[in-house]
Amino acid sequence: MKKMAQLGIIKTSFIFFILLFFFACVNEKKSQLPNVEIKKNVKKIDVPNFNSDSAYFFVEKQVLFGSRSPNSLAHKKCGNYLVSKLESYGAKIYTQESVEQRYDGEKLNMKNIIGSFYPEKKDRIFLCAHWDSRFIADHDTIRKKEAIDGANDGASGVGILLEISRQVSILEPEVGVDIIFFDLEDQGEGGTGDVLSWCIGSQYWSKKPHVSNYNAEYGILLDMVGAPGAIFTQEAYSVEYAKEIVDKCWNQAIESGFSDYFSFDKTPGIIDDHLPINEILKIPTIDIIEYDPSTENHFNKHWHTHGDGMNNISRETLNAVGQTVMDVLYNE
Ligand SMILES: [Zn+2]
Repeated sequence: MKKMAQLGIIKTSFIFFILLFFFACVNEKKSQLPNVEIKKNVKKIDVPNFNSDSAYFFVEKQVLFGSRSPNSLAHKKCGNYLVSKLESYGAKIYTQESVEQRYDGEKLNMKNIIGSFYPEKKDRIFLCAHWDSRFIADHDTIRKKEAIDGANDGASGVGILLEISRQVSILEPEVGVDIIFFDLEDQGEGGTGDVLSWCIGSQYWSKKPHVSNYNAEYGILLDMVGAPGAIFTQEAYSVEYAKEIVDKCWNQAIESGFSDYFSFDKTPGIIDDHLPINEILKIPTIDIIEYDPSTENHFNKHWHTHGDGMNNISRETLNAVGQTVMDVLYNE
């Protein structure tokens, strides 16, 4: 249907230009073409409705495995679940497994999971999130040494991307889509620790993508995208490396009716999976991440605490982010 509609527009435009040319010829004495308004060829697509119940279910499903702290049984089971879901939607699966070292010397089993939809398509975009959850609750006042649920920090982005995967399997977008679930994002050293101790999975992928010569037009990272009343500002590294994509997504969010969630305010850069991708692989990638001006670190108030459970997840927020990303994706 889409192709036919485009053909129709091309045909109409062609006849219109013939007429214009004719009109210009018979008005030779005038130096300018007649003042006719030429309408833009606006692409109109029926974008599927993002299902926030489905996304919420996928977030909860991950949390129910237990904390996806690396080397745990829950981590292993959840990883297998993510592979089987992407596979069930028809994606071509790639996994990257490796043993990587945490900042304190602990050896961690890493598993990056990639689901490639319509792998034959040359024009591609990728959507990504981290699927591990933090092994300690270092910002809590109690049980600081226990792993967190990471419902918002980790599972929310993955939940939205599983729902988008389901949609992409039903209605084929014009571009190919790669869904990437990074491991070992959240096991870094807090405070003034080594920044390279964070985002280990995305550093690995950026140096060695799942296919050789991998390329995509751009990438969108989702992180902490499920909290009630979340505000998504324009994070500095996203603006620095991929301003056009930031503009595209934020303008789309407003057009899609989510101005309560997306703010045009510019806020400081965050060490997150988009940074190694921009710096090493050099594919422009943005981070959609909550900014909370009321907390000291400007993350969600439950960040790296045991409060980051399912009661920190809102269907409305999942919907605002999920629908915006789908509106961008299906208009490519
Ligand atoms: Zn985190």
